[in-house]
Order: sequence, then C-alpha cells, then structure tokens
Amino acid sequence: MQRPEAGKPLIKFNHCKKYIYSFSVPQCCPLCGQVMGSMKLEEAPVSISNPFTNGHQEKCSFLLRPTQGTFLREYDGRSDLHVGITNTNGIVYNYTTCGVQRDEAGWEQSVSIPLLQPGMFGLMDQWDKYLEDFSATEAWLPERYEEDHHNCYSYTLTFINCVLTTEGKEQLGKGEFTEKYVVPRTRKASKYITLYRAIEERGFYVTDCPDEETNPPEGSGSC
Ligand SMILES: [Zn+2]
Repeated sequence: MQRPEAGKPLIKFNHCKKYIYSFSVPQCCPLCGQVMGSMKLEEAPVSISNPFTNGHQEKCSFLLRPTQGTFLREYDGRSDLHVGITNTNGIVYNYTTCGVQRDEAGWEQSVSIPLLQPGMFGLMDQWDKYLEDFSATEAWLPERYEEDHHNCYSYTLTFINCVLTTEGKEQLGKGEFTEKYVVPRTRKASKYITLYRAIEERGFYVTDCPDEETNPPEGSGSC
C-alpha cells in the first residue's frame, strides 16, 4: 500500500552481484546495460519499507515532522522538529506559540508512533475526549509557551503520561521516551532520506551484496 504523500516508493533489485535501489525497475541494468527482461526469482525486486506515513490516517498516535518543510525535501538532520498527537479522526493536536492547534492538514509525511498498545484499545472510545479536555487546560495557553521547557514535546509527553497513569502504568521520562521510541524511528528515517535523495539525483543507488562471497552451497542448512 503506497501513499503518494509519503514520497515515491523505493525498490531494491539484484544485478551484477550488487543491490541496486531505484524508484522502479529500469529496462536495462544501469551497471552492465543488459536488458532486465527475464529476472530470476532471487533477482526479483522487493519494495523498501517507507518510514513515513500520512499522519492524518493514523489514530491515537504520536507524530513527528520537521517544523518547516518535509523530511524528504528539506530536512537536513539538524532542522527543528515539531510533534503532535492524533485523535481518532486523524486531526493532529499540537502545541505552538499560538496555543493548541488542531490540524487537518500538514502532517502528510510524518514519523508515526502508535500510542495504544494491545490491551489498551478500550481507551479509544474516550481518546478524543481525553485529548480535547487535556488541551483545554490552562497549562497549554499560548502565553505559557516556552521554547525550551514548555513546548510541543512537553505537551505530547504530558498527555502520554496522563494516559499511562489512567491505565495504571508507569510514567515515561523525556529521555526514556526519546531513546526507546523516537530515536530508532528517526535513525531509520535518516537512512531512508539519504537513499531517497541519492536516487533522485542519480536515478539509482548501488551497494554490495553482503553475502556475495560467503554464500553457502545450496542445502547446507545454514541460518
Ligand atoms: Zn547488471
């Protein structure tokens, strides 16, 4: 299932004993020029999973995107990031200098972290009310906003902790949440961005097949 908002799909195929990444299978191999017509099964293209999703299609999730522009075009690894939380209709609640915003657009290319673990789905019925009530408290008035200490991140994490408390679970510190949930996804996203831009520039990207030399003979049963 590909969503155009999240960028063009990427694929990987095998030729000339290399992995070749591209937006689609070319007619000829970009390395040897051979017509790609009849591929063996092991050379068949596979799609690369896209780390970005359309946040407006995610229920009850934490979302992350660059404050300006998009990950695939503008993000340079140091740009400011903005975070928010979706309700069950894909409206993204986020805290800014203007108070709590309820965005119906603008989060089409986000890193998304689902907040409802299995066993918590009963919460979904009340999620929108919790989120709306939480956002109406005076902690999130525009004049309370502080760039470093009371910002979009404080808003989302405080909400997540309210939910965890309601569920009788332990609260999460900022560092713990970032390390455990955010960093693994942003790391994956950075690699994807590098690959995507290289393909946009040159049409394809090549890496060595890691097991080229050490391929065990067929049926050796190695795992
Ligand atoms: Zn080739």
